[in-house]
Amino acid sequence: MNGDAIRVLFVTPECAPLAKTGGLGDVSAALPAALRQLGIDVRVLLPGYPGVFAAVNHARELARLTLFEPPLASRLLETRLATGVPLMILDNPPLYRRDGGPYQNASGEDWRDNGLRFGLLSKAAAVLGSTSSPLPWRPQVIHCHDWPAALACAYLHYASGPRAANIVTVHNLAFQGNFDPGMVASLGLPPASYAADGLEFHGRMSFLKAGLVYADAITTVSPTYAHEIQSEACGAGMHRLLQRRRSVLSGILNGIDAAAWNPATDPYLPHHYRSDALERKRLDKQALQDRLQLAHDPDDVPLLGVVSRLTHQKGADLLVQAALELAALPAQLVILGSGQREHEDALRALAAHAPGRIAVTVGFDEALAHLIEAGADMFLMPSRFEPCGLNQMYSQRYGTPPIAHATGGLTDTIVDYSPGTLAAGNATGFLFDQPTVAALLAAVRRAVAVYRERDNWRMLQQNGMARDFSWIAAARQYAELYLRLAARRGSPP
Ligand code: ADP
Repeated sequence: MNGDAIRVLFVTPECAPLAKTGGLGDVSAALPAALRQLGIDVRVLLPGYPGVFAAVNHARELARLTLFEPPLASRLLETRLATGVPLMILDNPPLYRRDGGPYQNASGEDWRDNGLRFGLLSKAAAVLGSTSSPLPWRPQVIHCHDWPAALACAYLHYASGPRAANIVTVHNLAFQGNFDPGMVASLGLPPASYAADGLEFHGRMSFLKAGLVYADAITTVSPTYAHEIQSEACGAGMHRLLQRRRSVLSGILNGIDAAAWNPATDPYLPHHYRSDALERKRLDKQALQDRLQLAHDPDDVPLLGVVSRLTHQKGADLLVQAALELAALPAQLVILGSGQREHEDALRALAAHAPGRIAVTVGFDEALAHLIEAGADMFLMPSRFEPCGLNQMYSQRYGTPPIAHATGGLTDTIVDYSPGTLAAGNATGFLFDQPTVAALLAAVRRAVAVYRERDNWRMLQQNGMARDFSWIAAARQYAELYLRLAARRGSPP
C-alpha cells in the first residue's frame, strides 16, 4: 500500500466467513477487498468472537485499550483476512468470547449487555480515529456499519482535537440498537448528548440515531432505500431526522461476490452452465427436485424458489397465504429459510398438505441455497421493504428471473418485463407494486405466461446473466466519498 493511500477504518459487527448473520457479513468481506484493489488503505475492526479466533492462525498484539469507568481492559490484535485486508480484532473475552451469535445467545435471545458490547466497539473505533490512539496508523475516515458501530460518530463528535471524518452506513433501519438511557453515563458520553437533537429516541438512547445525527455522511445500500427511509411509512420513526440530513444522505448499491455466485464454476452445483448453454440448467432443476422429492413435472410447470429469512419484512406471511394458489397454477414451490416460528410452522404444514409440489426446508444451508438459485425457474422476493437484497442479484446471474415487490434495492436491480424492455435488451424480471397476495399472484401469472414463450424467456434469462453486479462500482463510489470527506476534514489526527 503506498504511503499516500487514504486510510480507512471499517468498523463492523460481522465479516464473513468469520461472523455472518446476513448481508452485512458479505458486504464486510467483499467491500474492503474491492477498496484495496482501488489503492485504499482499509483495515477492518471486528469484535473477537470465538468464530474469529477459530479462523485466524496468528494474531499479533498491537495495543491494549483501557476504556470506560469502571475500567474495561481489552487487547487490540492484528492479522489478515483471506483477501489480504488487515483485520484488527477487539479482544475482550468476557464480552465477546461466548457461544452463540454476534447479537444473540444460542436460544435466539439478544445478549443483555449488547449496549456495553457494541458501545465498546464504537468507543475503540473512535479512539483509533483521535489523537488518543495508541497506534501510529491513524485513519482519516472511520466507516461505521449499522447500529453496533454507529455510536463511534457520537464519541468522535465529543472528542477534542483533530479526529477522523466518519460515515455511517445503514444496512437496515429497522435495527436501531435502542437501550436504557442509563447507558449514556456508563458508556462515558456527556449528559447533554441525551437530547432530542442527540441520542434520545422515544425515551431510549439510540445507537443508530447517534450515527444519523453526528456522522459526516450517511449512506444506505441502495439509492431507492435512501429515498424511501425519508418517508413516514419506511422511516422507522427516523424519517424526519433523515429528511433534515438529506444533503449528506446517499445510496450506494451493494455488489455481489461474482466468483462465489457463478453458475459456470459454482462448486455447489452438480451441473455447470453458461448463458449460451442454458439447456443444462434443467439438469440442476432435476437435481433439486430429486433432493427434495418433488416430481419431474412437464417442462411447462415452473419451479419457484425462495431463500430468505422467514420474517414479516421478507413477506413470509404472503408466501404462506399464496402457496396453495401458486401450486395450483400449476407450479412447484421450493422454500429455504428460517426465522419467525409461526411462518416456519405454517410453511411446514403447507408442504405436508401438498407433497411433491411444495418443499420447505427450515434452516440455514449454503449448498441448498446455491442449488435453488440454479435449479429454480423463477425466484420470489415479496419483501415489504428491502434495503438492498442479494438473492435477486444472484438469481439474475443464475438465469432465474426474480419476481419481486418493487421496493428499495429490488427496484434498483431488477428491470420489469414488458415487450418494450425486452426488445431494448433490459428486462430481467417482474416487479409488483404492492406487498399483497393478489399482487404477488398476478406477477407470478405474468411471469408464467412469458415462461411459456420460450424465446422471450431465454432472452430474459440472458439479459439477467449479462448484468454486472460486481463490487467495483460500489467501491469506486465509497472511495470518492472517503476522498471528499478526508479533504474537507483536513489534517488527520
Ligand atoms: P438479509 O441480510 O436482510 O437477510 P440479504 O438478501 O441482504 O438479506 O442477504 C441474505 C443472505 O443470506 C444471502 O446471501 C442469502 O442467500 C443468505 N441466506 C438467507 N437465508 C438463508 C438460508 N436459510 N440458507 C442459506 N442462505 C441463506
